[in-house]
Amino acid sequence: RKGSVIITGASSGLGLATAKALAETGKWHVIMACRDFLKAERAAKSAGISKENYTVMHLDLSSFDSVRQFVDNFKRSGRPLDVLVCNAAIYQPTAKEPTFTADGIELSVGTNHLGHFLLSRLLLDDLKQSDYPSKRLIIVGSITGNTNTLAGNVPPKANLGDMRGLAGGLTGVNGSAMIDGGDFDGAKAYKDSKVCNMLTMQEFHRRYHEETGITFASLYPGCIATTGLFREHIPLFRALFPPFQKFITKGYVSEEESGKRLAQVVSDPSLTKSGVYWSWNKDSASFENQLSEEASDVAKARKVWEISEKLVGLA
Ligand code: NDP
Repeated sequence: RKGSVIITGASSGLGLATAKALAETGKWHVIMACRDFLKAERAAKSAGISKENYTVMHLDLSSFDSVRQFVDNFKRSGRPLDVLVCNAAIYQPTAKEPTFTADGIELSVGTNHLGHFLLSRLLLDDLKQSDYPSKRLIIVGSITGNTNTLAGNVPPKANLGDMRGLAGGLTGVNGSAMIDGGDFDGAKAYKDSKVCNMLTMQEFHRRYHEETGITFASLYPGCIATTGLFREHIPLFRALFPPFQKFITKGYVSEEESGKRLAQVVSDPSLTKSGVYWSWNKDSASFENQLSEEASDVAKARKVWEISEKLVGLA
């Protein structure tokens, strides 16, 4: 049978390119889990993904109710789940004030981390039950959360601190909207959320890999300077960022190429090792990359997991 993969945020950028790459093999049925149904349908059509290879299902990661409803709908569809890709993200580098999810949690961490945390916890049993030869849970990471890299050292740097803000629910009302309890900074909130993504992948690996055989992985797909992720940046930045990445840092990767990379992490028989953060070198060959000290901190991973369980209502 065909493999069955859920990709969150498959209506644009990396998620769409990955959906296309997988669908084109004819070996995958892609469930595009998107907040804007029409946009996703149009995106699939204009990418040329044929009808029998995809299904759009509504998912708004900035609402725990929506996440639970998506999971119910998916379970009722009767489809198996072989691979789950947590890809969607929101980035608000110029926001002066925090905005909030339906549950009153700062939007970047609430969507990128907590929405995906709840989703993957609720779908873990479906992955366990799959009889597919290689079942995988993939959480898209980023270089920007990794302070052991040049890009990760551009201020404001990611830093979860003692997580007092996260423990307080990131409400921004009586407590901070930032994980470390500091003043709101949209760019930092995104980077912090990506550190949570990478910590969560490793905590999943430690808790569930041996017992379930599921491969847990994260990746940095390269700098895809043309995606919608930068839609909220100032126009000058948006104009200069792609050529800067292409010619100066040489980290630039096209949406198509990044989609092929993530598709490898989904389906390549040689990428089955669990607990790995994948990256690609200049010749587009994959390698196991090192995470920063904070993004590989075992105690922090456990703490993020435990606080997140409470916030999403699982503990
Ligand atoms: P895009 O903005 O193009 O894609 C993000 C997707 O997430 C969109 O489909 C968007 O939906 C969706 N999304 C946002 N909020 C929600 C929500 N509340 N519920 C459901 N879906 C939502 O960005 P990219 O393709 O660049 O980003 C994809 C991933 O790649 C992210 O995890 C990002 O952190 C990561 N990444 C990107 C890099 C880059 O250089 N671009 C570098 C490293 C990592 P909609 O279409 O409706 O807006």
